[in-house]
Amino acid sequence: MAITAPRGTADILSPDILKWKYIENKIADISMRFGYSEIRTPVFEHTELFERGVGDTTDVVQKEMYTFNDKGGRSITLRPEGTASVARAFLEHNIYAQPLPAKLCYNITCYRYEKPQAGRLREFHQFGAECYGTSEPCVDAEVISLAKTILTELGIKKLNLNINSIGCPSCRKKYNEALKDYFRPYIEDGTLCQTCRDRFEKNPLRILDCKSPVCGEIADKAPVLLDYICEECHNHFEEVKKHLEAMGISYNVDGTIVRGLDYYTKTVFEFKTALQGTAGTVCGGGRYDGLIEELGGASTPGIGFAMGIERLILALEEADALPVLENAPDIFVANIGDETKLFVTALTDKLRKEGIKCERDLCGRSLKAQMKYADKCGARFSMVIGTDEAEKKTAMLKNMKEKAQTEVSLENLDELIKIVKE
Ligand code: ATP
Ligand code: MG
Repeated sequence: MAITAPRGTADILSPDILKWKYIENKIADISMRFGYSEIRTPVFEHTELFERGVGDTTDVVQKEMYTFNDKGGRSITLRPEGTASVARAFLEHNIYAQPLPAKLCYNITCYRYEKPQAGRLREFHQFGAECYGTSEPCVDAEVISLAKTILTELGIKKLNLNINSIGCPSCRKKYNEALKDYFRPYIEDGTLCQTCRDRFEKNPLRILDCKSPVCGEIADKAPVLLDYICEECHNHFEEVKKHLEAMGISYNVDGTIVRGLDYYTKTVFEFKTALQGTAGTVCGGGRYDGLIEELGGASTPGIGFAMGIERLILALEEADALPVLENAPDIFVANIGDETKLFVTALTDKLRKEGIKCERDLCGRSLKAQMKYADKCGARFSMVIGTDEAEKKTAMLKNMKEKAQTEVSLENLDELIKIVKE
């Protein structure tokens, strides 16, 4: 049997790749405008990084990681997300010693062992941005604005921003007690799933984002953290809202957002598109003031988000927001017979060096078949080189759509280039 790609992975073929390039370029441009520089980290890391950085009671770590021992017996994990790696690099390369804040962004593949469905793959792509070294509320708002600018400049109009504050470890202590009081009867009567029962003592907050429908229904009525946050967290949240309002960014406060990763503190947020179901959550982020310390560094605040590119593409397609993208040749240079092949080799090479997207026959086709191929490729212009053209160094440049022909010199290519580039 033929070998197929593993379940939950996708090949990106032409012309779809043009959408990816278009989106990646736009995102790169906007993130630069916001002062972010790209960071590239390895696809795999020591498993411990994610256990500590993402949190060993999270779904990601408990159920979704691709973990294996390498030939040296080390436990290795394919990155399920980007933040833990960026935080590790931040420490490893003393980025904290450079002028802060450090504004870093990445464009990566991530790996999670999940049940594949629309907008949920086992290998997927994330764009992420992280800002380390400041706990000012205006940073939270700026990071949210970066995500929103990307989504809106790409053309997503129906967009909901949900924000919440999940407090700091000190306010969470009080809240955890309230949560435990609420969940205790469901632990005792066995309604909650086994994973949630295990989480009850260690991290009851995680029960709130359990995907099981039974746990979900119970969690819906649980006390919300926002009612328990301390004064400092409350003031921070109020300031974030004011900065969002100053930029005209509308938001809903949604007390049920807790986010799936353990490292979040204070502000958390999600952007939802018009798509129904899980695919609708295109971007998630928040503040993680405890992460760097968790990984062994000095206490350093940080905030960021990650955006799922597959979900973004689904939303852009749904909104019909992608422009017509094509990579057709500017000109197809055909040859008659074998005699002019060398001439065409030299000519197309020169044209490419002048920045012209230029194709020629590479398959030994007849002239008729070459012209058919040129048409199929969507070439805007074509030119036929026979012995006559090669000798006289002139040829007819044909506009494929308008069928108009112009005689151009092949000795001095200026005119040809000018017409084709117009
Ligand atoms: P979900 O609740 O949908 O599982 P999550 O909370 O696990 O999402 P994050 O870890 O916050 O997701 O990742 C940030 C973004 O990455 C998500 O908002 C989503 O757009 C995207 N994403 C997460 N998991 C997947 C996946 N398996 N396939 C495709 N995109 C994903
Ligand atoms: Mg998930």
